[in-house]
Amino acid sequence: MSLHGAYDDANIFAKILRGEAPCFKVYEDDVALAFMDIFPVSRGHTLVIPKRAAARNLLELPTDEVGPYMTRVQRVAQGVERALTPDGVSIFQFNGAPAGQTVFHLHFHIVPRWEGVAMGQHGKTPMADKETLAQLAKDIGAAV
Ligand code: AMP
Repeated sequence: MSLHGAYDDANIFAKILRGEAPCFKVYEDDVALAFMDIFPVSRGHTLVIPKRAAARNLLELPTDEVGPYMTRVQRVAQGVERALTPDGVSIFQFNGAPAGQTVFHLHFHIVPRWEGVAMGQHGKTPMADKETLAQLAKDIGAAV
């Protein structure tokens, strides 16, 4: 998938937004939905996606949506920090397959980091167990 092209509403995050696929929900309001990444690169790896725009990447998000969306990204990151007290937080986002993007609905990754603990390799980590993800979603959600 190149950087340019049509939004495909069959992507997994669009299905999650429509309630057609499950997620471990952390936070939701009219602007954004946050949920656990099921292939986490660290404990507490959380995704934040915009709800109002069919944007494949950050470059496509309408400018007036950027502020409200980024406010939610920050808010969820603060919740991750309060809930899990990591030593650091990596926040990143990919645009286009050559940049590492695999799901083509805009999302930011919020990845808590601990001193001396290496982050997993994006796209190469195993699926986390459901009980762990459910508990993390509850703990982070309560802190957002
Ligand atoms: P990216 O490669 O930046 O597009 O990131 C997509 C992310 O979505 C990856 O980190 C995947 O582990 C994650 N992912 C894929 N399918 C699901 C799903 N059904 N629920 C939660 N996370 C998912």
